[in-house]
Amino acid sequence: MDNKDQITVTSPLLPDLDEFNALLKEIWESKWITNNGSFHRQLEKELAAYLKVPYISLFTNGTLPLITALQALRITGEVITTPYSFVATTHALWWNGIKPVFVDVDSATGNIDPNKIEAAITPRTTAIMPVHVYGKPCDTKQIQAIADKYGLKVIYDAAHAFGVEVDGESVLNAGDLSTLSFHATKVYNTIEGGAMVMQDEKMKQRIDYLKNFGFAGETEVVAPGINSKMDEIRSAYGLLNLRQVNSAIEARRKAAVRYRENLRNVEGISFFDDTPGVRHNYSYFPIFVDAGKYGTTRDELYAKLRGCNILGRRYFYPLISEFTTYRSLPSAKPENLPNARKMADSVICLPMHHELTEENIDLTISIIKNSVK
Ligand SMILES: *Cc1c(COP(=O)(O)O)cnc(C)c1O
Repeated sequence: MDNKDQITVTSPLLPDLDEFNALLKEIWESKWITNNGSFHRQLEKELAAYLKVPYISLFTNGTLPLITALQALRITGEVITTPYSFVATTHALWWNGIKPVFVDVDSATGNIDPNKIEAAITPRTTAIMPVHVYGKPCDTKQIQAIADKYGLKVIYDAAHAFGVEVDGESVLNAGDLSTLSFHATKVYNTIEGGAMVMQDEKMKQRIDYLKNFGFAGETEVVAPGINSKMDEIRSAYGLLNLRQVNSAIEARRKAAVRYRENLRNVEGISFFDDTPGVRHNYSYFPIFVDAGKYGTTRDELYAKLRGCNILGRRYFYPLISEFTTYRSLPSAKPENLPNARKMADSVICLPMHHELTEENIDLTISIIKNSVK
């Protein structure tokens, strides 16, 4: 199989090489390559403005801000979370010695079902960690109402929610803290990278200390911090990518429209539509296969697409609660998570990125249509 003939699920948004070289030259001349340099500070400023958030702190990836957020809020005991996500969400709890408590998702969104959260709260519960899966906003109001009622913190894993807004307001401003991933596979990338969004200056200061070993000056360490600072090279790369992310999102939107127009009437195939009032980022295009109606199973379709060089991905399968590390937890019991299981067993994320051509999309659609039995 020749790599160039493959239609991959994603493709990284890359800055113009000449423009990147010019910034690299500046970095070489300044000899300031990490530790809160000028590109780091400029990217924080520009991202805060673009994302419409008051404060942001850059990280080396999207997992460390999750781990650091739990540290910063001193979360312990049990945390309520979703099994329908990338495994890093739950790993962040594990790394803090916290017991994950899985709650089922709402099939209409794929996000944690707020109506099932209260039943999972125990005297040891200290926080809720939802995910805006595929960039679809959680019901942040209902989740906040529950958190307020029980005195819980809310940390959103917003790895998929770059630039997502509800009625003009960033979804990243919900809860106590939100985290982002700028991994190569995401809508906006800095190769590896991530960030945390916070609502006040004091928390921004605290997080900036924590991501730099807890240093608050040359000789003072105020907390047992970690090292998760973004360097100057990735910050410069991120500044260039920020300039083209809107056109990348627009290209993704057009791809989503084409998929939807053509798959709308295929029996047994369903997908999400846009939500009115939401600025979506089209980070993924999941379809759900109802084998009974479609006549072909999800895995058969997945294999058939692969056979034609179309590399969809089964995000998120298996559920996090099905991995060996987590499957013995009481909340991981399959009967506790029927909606999440159904989604995990029926999902395929179709290719979705800024370079996808109409021919790529049409080929994918024709294979899906021709596999109906
Ligand atoms: C990508 C992702 C992460 C982890 O981000 P990295 O930058 O790869 O560390 C965390 N949570 C979710 C939901 C993700 O999709």
